[in-house]
Amino acid sequence: MNTQKSKPLFLVSACLMGLCTRYDGKLKNNKACQTFLKETIWIPVCPEQLGGLPTPRAAADITTGDGHDVLKGATAVCTEAGEDLSQLFIKGANQVLQIAKSHEIDGICLKSRSPSCAVSGTIGVTAALLQQNGFRLYEF
Ligand code: SF4
Repeated sequence: MNTQKSKPLFLVSACLMGLCTRYDGKLKNNKACQTFLKETIWIPVCPEQLGGLPTPRAAADITTGDGHDVLKGATAVCTEAGEDLSQLFIKGANQVLQIAKSHEIDGICLKSRSPSCAVSGTIGVTAALLQQNGFRLYEF
């Protein structure tokens, strides 16, 4: 933690804080995450929106493997209709990485069970890129 700052600085998946970024357009606060961030300064980010996708949007998933494989071009993120959104997911991940690198970030809170944000299970594309760059990740 940077002792120069008055409070720790975090990035957070925007949907965890109740912003309208989910694929289905629903609003869902995550109380545990909001409590965790109570004494911090937090910046909301949604990699899928930053990649250029609208809200609401079609649900998408990593077809095989995980976010690391998507970044390597070894697998894809596709909608149920088969539309390949990999490049938009990678673009969004890089946008979040750029934001993370331009601040003195103490950690990043990410949404579980997301093809972008999940940290455990099948790691998402953004989480994989942030992990590769050494950021401390928390999952809610
Ligand atoms: Fe956006 Fe990540 Fe939340 Fe999905 S899980 S809505 S990509 S912030």
